[in-house]
Amino acid sequence: ISIKGLSKIFTTANNQITAVDDLTLDIQEGDIFGVIGYSGAGKSTFVRLLNRLEEPSGGSVVIDDQEITSLTANQLRVTRQEIGMIFQHFNLLWSRTVKDNIAFPLEIAGVPKRERDKRVLELIKLVGLAGRENAYPSQLSGGQKQRVGIARALANKPKVLLCDEATSALDPETTNAILDLLVDINERLGLTIILITHEMHVIRKICRQVAVMEEGKIVEQGDVLDVFLRP
Ligand code: ADP
Ligand code: ADP
Repeated sequence: ISIKGLSKIFTTANNQITAVDDLTLDIQEGDIFGVIGYSGAGKSTFVRLLNRLEEPSGGSVVIDDQEITSLTANQLRVTRQEIGMIFQHFNLLWSRTVKDNIAFPLEIAGVPKRERDKRVLELIKLVGLAGRENAYPSQLSGGQKQRVGIARALANKPKVLLCDEATSALDPETTNAILDLLVDINERLGLTIILITHEMHVIRKICRQVAVMEEGKIVEQGDVLDVFLRP
């Protein structure tokens, strides 16, 4: 993933906010890359620019030789299948069961029912939700909800997984279990993971590389041990 001069300026009624400010960054395939910073630093806007949930004001994002910033709406729909995302508050469909939440992106992608069912079963096993297929999100713990979020994000076999404060709503023990699952997925599927958080221990536990964000800019970057132990 190659990011060059990426910017996002929000224009509100009475001012302009530069949420992401001329950001340049390379992320290696297969990495678990952490982005840390205080609330308001621009982390969430930054990851949302990578799959164009936000439209950039300037700059470019190239993922696997594909220029994300210049895709048409139709191309973007296909490319988004290659970029999974999970959220702090899970963003599940409350009226659908676990199974049907996970199947949703497959339905949208037009995967036939037989194949869909098979894939959903695999995903349920992968994230450790066997036995909960027919539960509704309201019947699950926070950790289980995030497991559904992860399975749904992986449904279309993405190359990249974006995690936006994915453990911030969870207690420490559940957080560790979800982080272990992300490492397992990274190792098993070779998937690149970008994880944003305001919690240092999350970065320390699973990331190899880290970038520190402040006011829309990266102020420090490198190997996790180097960055956090540097005097
Ligand atoms: P973080 O994820 O690090 O907490 P955000 O990316 O959410 O930071 O926000 C960065 C800055 O951009 C903040 O000042 C925030 O208020 C502003 N911002 C984010 N989204 C919008 C929006 N849709 N409209 C206006 N300002 C926004
Ligand atoms: P977490 O620590 O992940 O937030 P909770 O403390 O919410 O988890 O849940 C702990 C246990 O209670 C889990 O086994 C979960 O399945 C169960 N549980 C949580 N919420 C509900 C609910 N609304 N209905 C039934 N069981 C629930």
